[in-house]
Amino acid sequence: MSKRYQAFSVLGIPVHVMANYPGWLLECLQQGRGTHVVTLNAEMTMQAERNSVLAKVIQDAELVIPDGAGVVLYLRLLLWQKVQRCPGIELAETLLRELGQQHTSAKVFFYGGAPGVAAKAAEFCHRQIPGLNIAGTHSGYHCKEEEERLLATLSQLQPQVIFVGLGVPRQELWIAQHRYLCPHAIWIGVGGSFDIWSGTKTRAPAWLGNNNLEWLYRLYQEPWRWRRMLALPEFVFKAFIYHFTARGAIS
Ligand code: UDP
Repeated sequence: MSKRYQAFSVLGIPVHVMANYPGWLLECLQQGRGTHVVTLNAEMTMQAERNSVLAKVIQDAELVIPDGAGVVLYLRLLLWQKVQRCPGIELAETLLRELGQQHTSAKVFFYGGAPGVAAKAAEFCHRQIPGLNIAGTHSGYHCKEEEERLLATLSQLQPQVIFVGLGVPRQELWIAQHRYLCPHAIWIGVGGSFDIWSGTKTRAPAWLGNNNLEWLYRLYQEPWRWRRMLALPEFVFKAFIYHFTARGAIS
């Protein structure tokens, strides 16, 4: 498969820029090319700075998309790239729609969220996209024995697309550790997407997202996030330091 993307370094973390992410993923699917998709934002970049295991997992991922406003602004303002933001939840939705329309019968699995949330999200997606084959769901809170059963299920079911919504960095580390179970699958860390699809939470209005302010809405909805969001000013500060001491394009 042709590469068809450019990789840029955002504080040492690669970000892949291409015109058609869903098309690329569908090609991976057709070719049975196992893929780990990371949806990068400023907060995750800062976590990766402190956590070398997470940094390595992101560096090894086949696709790292610019999910967050901070990452997009870095690419636009400091590296002069015409980059559009690609929120992970929207990439996931487009992929599901394509799968439904193409009637590929590719099996999809949802893992993560509070008990019942992934199942509710799956019901919602089925209603929206009747052709979709969601072969299983599992909550993200469980004991060790239940996790063993989940791993056995994945191994036996061999879903082609696996969404993991455990939050960052748990989901990225979990995928890196377990992707060998379904080596031909597309694995995507989807954060709180199941909460949105299940109706447990709502997404920011489009105008906020279009103005790179989705993070503000999350802060309003979940004020306990303020501590985590200190990563944003830290990212801006470090971005300038990094940019003027080491430059960005990888390939
Ligand atoms: N979660 C989970 N298991 C855990 C911890 C978290 O399934 O042990 C889920 C949680 O219910 C939520 C998601 O992970 O649905 C994290 O969502 P968030 O929006 O916080 O993700 P992030 O901002 O880290 O991408």
